[in-house]
Amino acid sequence: MNNKKRNTNTLKNNIYMLRFIFKHTPFMICGYLFFDVLANLPWTLSNVVLLKYIIDVASEGKDYYRVLVALCAFVIFVLITNLLTTLFYEISMPKQKQKLYFAVYKTIYEKAAKMDYEAYDNPEFYNDLVLAMTAMNERAYSLLADTQDVLTNVISVLTIGSVIVSIDPMCLIFVVVCVAIMTPIGRRIAKVNVERTEAMTPLDRKNLYFSRVFYLQDYAKELRLSGAGEMIEARYNKNIFDRIKTISPYLTKQWKLYFCQESLPMTLLIYFGITMFMGYKAIVTKDVTMGDFAATFNGAASISNSVFALTSQLAINMRENGLYVEKFRKFMNAKEKMISGEKTTVFKNPPVIKFENVSFKYPGTEKYVLRNINLEISPYKKIAFVGYNGAGKTTLTNLLLRLYDVTEGAITIDGVNIKEWDIKAYHKNFAAVFQDFSLFGATLGENVSMDDTPDKEKVESAIKAANFDRKLPNGTDSILLREFDDDGVSLSGGEAQKIAIARAFYKDCPFAILDEPSANLDPVAEYALNQSMSKAADQKTVVFISHRLSTTVMADEIFMLEKGEIIEHGSHEELMAQGGKYSYMFRLQAEKYSESESK
Ligand code: ADP
Repeated sequence: MNNKKRNTNTLKNNIYMLRFIFKHTPFMICGYLFFDVLANLPWTLSNVVLLKYIIDVASEGKDYYRVLVALCAFVIFVLITNLLTTLFYEISMPKQKQKLYFAVYKTIYEKAAKMDYEAYDNPEFYNDLVLAMTAMNERAYSLLADTQDVLTNVISVLTIGSVIVSIDPMCLIFVVVCVAIMTPIGRRIAKVNVERTEAMTPLDRKNLYFSRVFYLQDYAKELRLSGAGEMIEARYNKNIFDRIKTISPYLTKQWKLYFCQESLPMTLLIYFGITMFMGYKAIVTKDVTMGDFAATFNGAASISNSVFALTSQLAINMRENGLYVEKFRKFMNAKEKMISGEKTTVFKNPPVIKFENVSFKYPGTEKYVLRNINLEISPYKKIAFVGYNGAGKTTLTNLLLRLYDVTEGAITIDGVNIKEWDIKAYHKNFAAVFQDFSLFGATLGENVSMDDTPDKEKVESAIKAANFDRKLPNGTDSILLREFDDDGVSLSGGEAQKIAIARAFYKDCPFAILDEPSANLDPVAEYALNQSMSKAADQKTVVFISHRLSTTVMADEIFMLEKGEIIEHGSHEELMAQGGKYSYMFRLQAEKYSESESK
């Protein structure tokens, strides 16, 4: 990207974010900019205007009383601005900041929840989401702080510049030359900084990964029990060396540029040049007063410092903020591909489900993972999908839940294509328990009802149906997990799974989808679950995926999948009598099971 385009993008992105902040916290943005100018202006002007006045009064031997009046006026002005600014920064600002954080997160959550599920398969979307979640609120705030600094510096340049012009316009030439030299160097510094950030990005990503490995519980067991910890640590150390090696040439470049930018023009043109020029006029030709001399010297230094800040650090910050905002914008502008229909029916009783010639490949891939699936699920049936890993069982349920749209064919419910439903309303028809289910830091009741108004009696009967029989100290009001409560209850894998299963029994809906419901259960619990499933879910159609074929014995119908196709279909007895792949798999598992029993 060329420099001009980059600058335009930086500007556009920063303006986008400022508008976002203004929309959600208008008082904050106005107050922040106004009060900062108010707080800084007296000091900036006192350095030039007040100083000149006092020196002139003193050197002309005028009445000391004038100095007293000027100082009193200045002090009163400072006290009033201090009172207003501290009130704003200490009382209003922290609240406004919370409001802004809330707005940023709410916006991101709402967008993430609306995005197609398939977006999570896209690493670019996922990176943008993570970046937006982790960095955006701080970035929004620092953008505000930087904008405020830009404004303060611009106002300082304009006000002090006009004072200097009124004293001696020639001084401005020194300032203009100084600025003309500083600006391109500042741009170069900003460019080197962008190159440095780009060079460091892959190494930063690695660093993030390494720290994740050390702090996430998911890795904690493996790190303790294997040599992986040392391996990762060695790579982490190497990454630190790589970072130092990568950053070094940029630091040298930046140091040289900073030195050239700050020291040379400032020292030669402002400190030396203006002092000599105005000193000559004040001492030798006596064209200007001593106050003018002091004011122009201070003013020129102050303008140069402002320009220095504007062209280097602030330009770098604004560009960096812009890059983050760009990711945020990209995430916010990402379009959902899945189109929601109009239909909002939530069935009381389960109607028939049909897959008609359904074929599917995951977005962005070429391989069909399901081919020509035709199946019919009658109301109230308990249906099992079985098959080896990768056969397409989960994909089939993902399509039924409309997490993805079919590539070819159609899925209908009660004869209507599921694409005609409003997606949110459609999902109300299903209770789904996934293999990788999650429990939340909330009460047992809320974890079953999945909202904050659990019906106690219904929760109790759902957990009973799922055979969760552990007595918790506060019953269904007991808090699960320790994140929000030190006394939160920790559960075993099997117990957690029973709670997840209870969700399917609790929800008033015609269909339940259970992916590997017995994965964490022991054989006794699995048997009990099978028994209660037919009873507790007798008002629902239940579709479940299972690797353990002992669970499928109770199913009314079994669909055996292989490489994305249905290869066998029937009841357990029918499939056993057929003597095909299902019966082979069943016998193999039964043999294994009885071998381990007899050991
Ligand atoms: P099963 O549930 O029978 O083990 P899946 O439905 O999970 O099988 O997977 C079927 C095929 O689809 C596999 O080849 C798997 O690698 C592929 N697959 C699953 N999820 C994705 C995905 N998100 N993106 C691309 N391919 C996928």
